[in-house]
Parts: sequence; C-alpha cells; structure tokens
Amino acid sequence: MLPWTTYDALYEAATNQPEAFWLDAAQRVTWKKPPVAACRTRADGWHDWFPDATLNTCYNAVDRHVENGRGAQAALIWHSCATRECQSVTYRELQGRVAGFAGGLRSLGVEQGDRVLIAMPTMLETAIAMLACARIGAVHVVVFAGYAGPELARRIDDVAPKVVIIASCSFQGQTVIASEPVLNEALTEAKHRPQACVIVQRDACPASLLPERDHDFHVLEQSVPVDPVMLRSEDPLYILHTSGTTGSAKGIVRDNGGHAVALALSMELIYGCKPGETFFTTSDLGWVVGHSYGVYAPLISGCTSVLVEGGASASAIRKLCHEHEVTCLFTTPTQMRLMRQESRNQPEPVLPALARIFVAGEYVDPTLLGWARSYFRKPVVNHWWQTETGWSITAHFFGLPECEPVSLMNDIGRPAPGFHPVIVPSVPGEQCGEIVLSLPLPPGCLAGVWKEREVHVPTAYLDETGRYYRTFDEGMIDPMRAVHMLGRSDDVIKVAGRRISGVQIEKIIASHPAVYACAVVAAPDALRGQRPVAYVVVNPGRECAPSSEEIIRQVNNVLGRWIGLKEVRFVQQLPTTVSGKITRKRLLVS
Ligand code: AMP
Repeated sequence: MLPWTTYDALYEAATNQPEAFWLDAAQRVTWKKPPVAACRTRADGWHDWFPDATLNTCYNAVDRHVENGRGAQAALIWHSCATRECQSVTYRELQGRVAGFAGGLRSLGVEQGDRVLIAMPTMLETAIAMLACARIGAVHVVVFAGYAGPELARRIDDVAPKVVIIASCSFQGQTVIASEPVLNEALTEAKHRPQACVIVQRDACPASLLPERDHDFHVLEQSVPVDPVMLRSEDPLYILHTSGTTGSAKGIVRDNGGHAVALALSMELIYGCKPGETFFTTSDLGWVVGHSYGVYAPLISGCTSVLVEGGASASAIRKLCHEHEVTCLFTTPTQMRLMRQESRNQPEPVLPALARIFVAGEYVDPTLLGWARSYFRKPVVNHWWQTETGWSITAHFFGLPECEPVSLMNDIGRPAPGFHPVIVPSVPGEQCGEIVLSLPLPPGCLAGVWKEREVHVPTAYLDETGRYYRTFDEGMIDPMRAVHMLGRSDDVIKVAGRRISGVQIEKIIASHPAVYACAVVAAPDALRGQRPVAYVVVNPGRECAPSSEEIIRQVNNVLGRWIGLKEVRFVQQLPTTVSGKITRKRLLVS
C-alpha cells in the first residue's frame, strides 16, 4: 500500500525529503547489505544511488520469488509472430535456465565487469542471457537484431565484449534473415576480437557452428549452475546504446541498485500492477522499454511478463491479452495506429482482465488516444521517456487512490518522483522552451555514458551551469505541474521569427479522419526564414483522400495564416528509426 493518496503529497514527499523517500522506496528490493544513504555525489561530479549497499538484480528478479512461493507462476511468456511459437517459463524454470547459462558464460571466461553483447530478437533466450549476465555481474549490451554488419561492428568496438550472443536467424515479417553472415561481416570489420560467440539455433535457419569460435546456447545452459554474485549498488548492470532519436548513438550505463528501486516503485505507482498480475510490452527487447518493462520491472515485482517477437498485429495483441489475462499493456503510437487501421472490421475486444494501456516513445495525437479508449473501453494514457532515463520522466499514477484529473489524460502527465523539470525559454518571457531536469536525476537514470572502456560523466547532456540535464525536448509546464510536450528541440520551426513546433501542426492534421500519420518539417524560406511543409500518409482504408487545401484550411483555422503552411506532400510512408519512430530530419525538403 502506498502511503500517499494524492499526487501533491507524493511530489512533496519526494521533493522535500528525498533521502527518506528513496530509502523507503529501496525497501521494495532485497539487499545483501541494505543502503544507509540514498544519494552520494561521486568524485567526478555525477551521482551514485544507494552507495556501498549490495544486491544482485537477477536474485531480485528471479530467485527471491522462488523462495517466496512464486516458483510455479509463469515468469515469462513468449510468442513469436513470425514462427507462431509460444513458450512459457515459470520462475523456478527461469531460475534453473539462468543459473545454468550463467555457469556457461563463466566457463567461457566471463567475469564480473566483462561486457557480453547480445544481438538477438525478442526471445526467451535473450531475457535469459540478460539475467545470466546480471547474475554474475557481467554487463550486458543488447543490440537490435536487425542491424547490418557495420553497425554491429561499431558496437562491438565500442564495448569490447568478451562474448557475443546471437540467434541463428531473425525474421522480417515472414522473411528469414540468417544472422551468421551478419556476425561474420561484423567480426571481420571490428578491431576487437571477442573470446567466443554463442548461438541460439533456430529451426528456420540453423547456423553452422565454427568449432574454434561458436558455442550452442542450449548446450551451455546445461552448465553447472552458479549463484548470484553480490554487487555494489552502483556497479553497472547494462549498457544500452541510444537509438539515435537523441543524437548520435551513445552507450547509456545503468546501475544495479537505483535501477531496481526505480522500476519496483514505478510498477506500483505508475502502472498500478501488483505481484502475480501480467504485464505485456510490445517493445523489442533491444530498446529501453523492452529492458525495463519487458524484463526487469515485471520480474522484480513478481509479475508475469509477455514478450512478443516481431510486429504483433492487432488481433495477435488482443489474443495475447485475452489468453494471458494481461493487466497492463504498454505499446507505441505506431503500434496503436496499426491497431486502429486493422480493427475496422473486427468485433470490439472483450478483455475483462485488462485494466489500462500505456503508450510512449513519440508524440501521440489525442484522436488516437480517443480511438483507443473507445475501442478497448479502458483508460489509455501517454507518458514521456528517454533511453537515458530508463523509466518515465512524466506519467499518470494509477497506484494513487485519487484519480488523475480528466484534463491531464491527453498529456504526458506530471513528473515522476525525483524528476524536477524546468523550462528554459529560447525567447525570454515565453512559456515554452527546452525541458531540462535539475540534478541529481532520480534512481534508475543513466549512471554515466560508456566511452573508451570506462563510465564517464554524461557531459553532452549537461547545460553550461552543470546543474541541469538537457532532455533536448521542448515543452511547457502548466500550473498543475503537467508537462506538455512539443517535440524535439530541433523539430521547432521558426516562421518570421515566431517559433512553432511541428508537433502542434501535426496534432491538427492528425485529427482529420482520413489521415493515418503525418510529419511537419521546416523548409528554408527566402522571406520568412523557414516555412512548414507537411508530409501526410492517408489512411489506406479511405476511398476519399483529403486535398492539400482541406488540410491547409484546417491548420489555418486553428493556428492562423501566419503559419504559412502552403505545401502538403502525400506520401506512402514516413521514414522511421529502427525502433519505429518518425525521423523528421530524413524528410528532405527543398
Ligand atoms: P528514445 O530514447 O529513443 O526512446 O527517445 C526518446 C525521445 O522520444 C524523447 O526525448 C522524446 O523526444 C520522444 N518521446 C518519448 N516519449 C514521448 C511521448 N510520450 N511523447 C512525445 N515524445 C516522446
């Protein structure tokens, strides 16, 4: 039971007495040596959470639940949209497989602090490999399985892994992609030589193991099991490269203790998810949401986590929610748009166990949220995240007994405990500007960035005073402390000296019933500096597409003609990052 009934009480407790707040939150985790201090400034100026306390994240995610009577409960349920396989492991089975694979990694020479690179699609084995690393204090580096050889080589050189783990193939839709040629290309290109490679053999395309180099994952799992190693709270748990939404890819380092505490608190406070309930995130395990809410948070909280390989269709998501009595569904706006498109001729879902749905990752237009609410007949909310923060910066708090005001429901919510957003207006006196966060960031956020084989202070994110973390997102904060997001700083368009975020224009265009997706970018304008250009994807099911004039009129009616939207380009699709986010910069405007 959480001690706060209102958001204001929660916010004040976290702001006024942070040490007491976080030491109390830390009780959700099992420690070997419990913390006596919450936050300490490091010699390099960054911050450690729960310094000198010791724990093991894998023990918290797996073993303690077996000890506490959850051994027979499903821990992970995996479904592949490509192969139609479905597998489930109980907490007891997971403990056995993780302990065995951890023994296998040890037999390959992996020690505490060594990096293990995991380039696999979302599979049970991916989660097992992550947890096995956590068990022995090795640092996992999960890399999106769809990267080509050169991209994989760059990451291999960045983290210098002792072992690389791959699956013999992955899938793009129903197309089988063999992974061994990609691995071979990456290893030829990379300067660093891993000591060994481990391959999960898949029936669709088994790899031919090289005797000197390769080991079979399932054989290694049979190794002598090893117990969890106790680590310092501030020791690194993993490195995760940013997807590139926030600039060039950086290796974000996450600690053990702060991460476990933040995720355990968030499950209760934000998602309102109790031990024994089922959490389903549609995210790939290669992204931060997959790390945090596919694996660690649900398991640390004694929940069941549903994992899915490949893009799940609306009917697959509904089926999985139904079969596994999912309580919380966490998905992306892109996935939600696909669901809206697919759901046309399907009956409304009947999902009595599903309590609430969360989206994050990019701008969500209120029309889409409205559709999802009426389709699922459940609360559907948006929250704001970064790979760097590891959990949501702003959110809606389903664990608090007092409901959120309805007026906040279309926004990204209010700051989670320990996050203190401040607006830095680019034009003095304006309410909008870049959102920065005062330091220290709460537990669970980046413990540093990985550079030249070490953890460094994330200077690229600091403002010139060194007191604030820059999010590079623009927005404003209203009197209820709700944050309103306007997009990335570099997506702001300056029309005759007046700033307008592309997202504000997109919001209006997206409310047209025939628009499936849109993006607005800046084009150079001889007279006014910049002008907006809209790229629009029309809903495939609509016979009657909107005209450019109709869209321009709709925007002008809301924002005024000064916006100067004169050009609407109809396209088949918008460019996206590998994680599915629209990349406005790649829309070439000439
Ligand atoms: P990534 O680290 O790749 O997950 O990207 C983080 C960025 O995604 C943020 O800095 C935002 O620009 C964007 N983002 C995440 N969540 C939201 C959201 N709910 N609404 C709008 N943008 C978001």
